[in-house]
Amino acid sequence: MESYDVVVAGGGHNGLIVAAYLAKAGLKVCVVERQDKAGGGVVTKEVTVPGFKHDICSVVHGSIQANPLIHADELGLMSKYGLKYIVPDIQMAFVFHDDSALIVYRDIGKTCESIKQFSEHDAEAYPKFCDYSRQVIRAGQVAYFSAPPPFGRMVSFLDASEMGREFYRVIMSSGLDIAEEWFESGQMIASLTRWVCENLYGPRDKGSGNYINSFPFFHARGMGIPVGGAGTLSEALIACIKDYGGTVKVSTSVKAIKVEGEEAKGVVLDTGEEIMADKAVVSNLNIKQLFLDMIEPEHLPEGFTEKVRRIKQGNISVMLQVLALNEAPKYKAGGDTNSASNLLIVPSTEELLRELDDCYYGIPGALSPSVFCNSLYDSTRAPEGKHTLYIYHLEPYDLRGGGATRWDEVRQEVADHILETVRGHTTNLGDDNIIGRWISSPLDFYRYNPAWIKGDYNHFPLTVTQSYGNRPLPGWSNLRTPVKKLYICGPSAHPGGGVWGAGRATALVMMEDFDIDFRKVVSKP
Ligand SMILES: Cc1cc2nc3c(=O)[nH]c(=O)nc-3n(C[C@H](O)[C@H](O)[C@H](O)COP(=O)(O)OP(=O)(O)OC[C@H]3O[C@@H](n4cnc5c(N)ncnc54)[C@H](O)[C@@H]3O)c2cc1C
Repeated sequence: MESYDVVVAGGGHNGLIVAAYLAKAGLKVCVVERQDKAGGGVVTKEVTVPGFKHDICSVVHGSIQANPLIHADELGLMSKYGLKYIVPDIQMAFVFHDDSALIVYRDIGKTCESIKQFSEHDAEAYPKFCDYSRQVIRAGQVAYFSAPPPFGRMVSFLDASEMGREFYRVIMSSGLDIAEEWFESGQMIASLTRWVCENLYGPRDKGSGNYINSFPFFHARGMGIPVGGAGTLSEALIACIKDYGGTVKVSTSVKAIKVEGEEAKGVVLDTGEEIMADKAVVSNLNIKQLFLDMIEPEHLPEGFTEKVRRIKQGNISVMLQVLALNEAPKYKAGGDTNSASNLLIVPSTEELLRELDDCYYGIPGALSPSVFCNSLYDSTRAPEGKHTLYIYHLEPYDLRGGGATRWDEVRQEVADHILETVRGHTTNLGDDNIIGRWISSPLDFYRYNPAWIKGDYNHFPLTVTQSYGNRPLPGWSNLRTPVKKLYICGPSAHPGGGVWGAGRATALVMMEDFDIDFRKVVSKP
């Protein structure tokens, strides 16, 4: 029987990160991944035509730029294992129904010039808003790369200062509430609320207010495009794990966690084989998979499974289509939109709110695609002169009149509507420009990764009652679980989904429990 110090169930980027830190600390680690390629939401594949490298989930890596894993290169991913990010000057373009466009540059002043075409007031307010957001975030002192405190402790800390109370107010508000406090033009309010939707929020959802605070990040570290595709992050992590003697098993599915007495002892595979873990098991899976399907309730405190079961799911998921192109899209808006790798099509706020409401009722939409053309900045993505396009749209998981399985009937039709919306804003996206196309529906995403229950890559919505010290459950935000030697990482834990590299926090907690000095580990060359 195989035996390691630590076994990680699920090889998404977070599972790989935990394993890489622990391997660097000298532990014998094994990551167990069901797909034929590790990375989960951080993979790049040639799914259309050979030579075109498409990100089939995450496409830009923003939050992780603030993680010491990247900016301090704690594991040598950049210096030793080939990871490289490009941070473009044009961070994002918002294109409106009349083909006017608001461009967000790394430079705040240049961004204000773009805002000015819609409102002098908003152009003046924008730098103040950025400054305010930074202060609010600083006052919140929310840990993103280490475990958050219990929610009550966080609130009493916040209540002790003016800006702390402001942070609390913002996280209890919706994105729309905050946008309307600061700005007057329809374009600015719609852009900010559209941005909030990127995190699978409805703009009126309470709790989405804090996501608006991420906007000034464009002017700080900025959004990074991984050279060679999102998957290069996972590949660098795998190289790091292997370099330190660790193992990454693919095409290997975990069926259960082996628990004896009160302790996790290893994992049981679909084949019935067992892989033993002397020190710990880490789950990069959905908390519902873990505690409802993989561990018998007798090993859990009374009432625990009930609390897991009542975690609220939403109905917002995502449809993705990637295209291999002869040439990059040309936008009717012209100017810098043609150099924007990252472009959001923005309907009016009212239309956006209605579209998100439709998600709750299971009605697909096509009004507000996100469009990424990373090959504009990274020529390794496609054969010379050619381009890759990525079109993403929020969609309901369960469809009215048939549930999620209806996606197999309507996938093509909905994807075509979304493509038509993008075509309406471009001049050269006819069939003659498209060499290949690949589509993934919300149901396809669940099939790809059963941790994304209801197609939700955040696992479950980031409402305040399910965020910070309340994630995954009140009292369990410290990344440990009621089963001894069983830890969690990934979207079920704070700060939720997205490429944050939050697995670092789990590695920190585990090293604390194992009496290993984290600082010494990361300062080793
Ligand atoms: C279309 C799309 C676009 C996105 N765009 C962005 C973006 O641009 N920027 C951003 O920051 N985020 C984005 N995200 C979100 C982001 O990709 C995820 O939230 C993030 O990758 C989650 O990382 P993780 O490592 O914690 O978990 P996951 O990536 O979910 O990894 C979990 C792993 O566990 C494996 N697994 C599941 N069940 C088992 C089992 N029984 N046995 C073994 N292995 C199992 C899965 O195959 C998977 O590899 C996007 C997601 C999608 C779907």
